Amino acid sequence: MKKSVLIGGMLLASCAAFAGSESHWTYSGTGGPNEWATLTPEYGACAGKNQSPINLTGFIEADLKPIKFAYQTGGNEILNNGHTVQINYAAGSSVTVDSIRFELKQFHFHAPSENLINGKSYPMEAHLVHADKDGNLAVIAVMFKEGAENKALSKIWPLMPKDAGETNALSSPVAAAALLPAKRDYYRFNGSLTTPPCSEGVRWLVMKQPITVSKAQVEAFSHVMHHPNNRPVQAVNSRTVLK
Ligand SMILES: [Zn+2]
Repeated sequence: MKKSVLIGGMLLASCAAFAGSESHWTYSGTGGPNEWATLTPEYGACAGKNQSPINLTGFIEADLKPIKFAYQTGGNEILNNGHTVQINYAAGSSVTVDSIRFELKQFHFHAPSENLINGKSYPMEAHLVHADKDGNLAVIAVMFKEGAENKALSKIWPLMPKDAGETNALSSPVAAAALLPAKRDYYRFNGSLTTPPCSEGVRWLVMKQPITVSKAQVEAFSHVMHHPNNRPVQAVNSRTVLK
């Protein structure tokens, strides 16, 4: 009896870790992506017309200005929120897009990739999440292809919390710049958060060049997640994908 109470308490604690009034959502089955929009009125945007991820294809040539990166070393804690593994970032790192400064807040991972490029799925995708002073979001996505061990990940993976709701301090801060490819050319489209509440108006900047990750590193992440954590691709509707 005591045991089941304890287990119930732990489940409650791990759901509560998803914060406040948020409803419990999942990547499959009950509470899965097809149900997100109807789980609670706050998730209504999940049924919107400008949702992420998408299959990036049918590109429109555009004069995309280089993203200006001003990243410091600042990843100072790693957490497992049950949906992803996330590295929270200290204030002071930013990108400039559309002449607007967006501060890097956190980066996290999805396996397999959420976005597809010309129909191609990658074993893993990183999302570097930035916000401007008004709370508008810009996400830089980096694809991982299978290959050599990723040196940046090899520093932080051993500290991945095994249980949802756990956070570990990173004794030596990590550099987000280590997750950027050498070439910074990118695709751009308007999208949303890929998790509830699926808020739209997010600037998506997807790096064209992937970086490498070893098979073992992807497996270590998937083992901690226990399941794939990618939302299926959403309808592009009237959007354009710029290149
Ligand atoms: Zn993400």
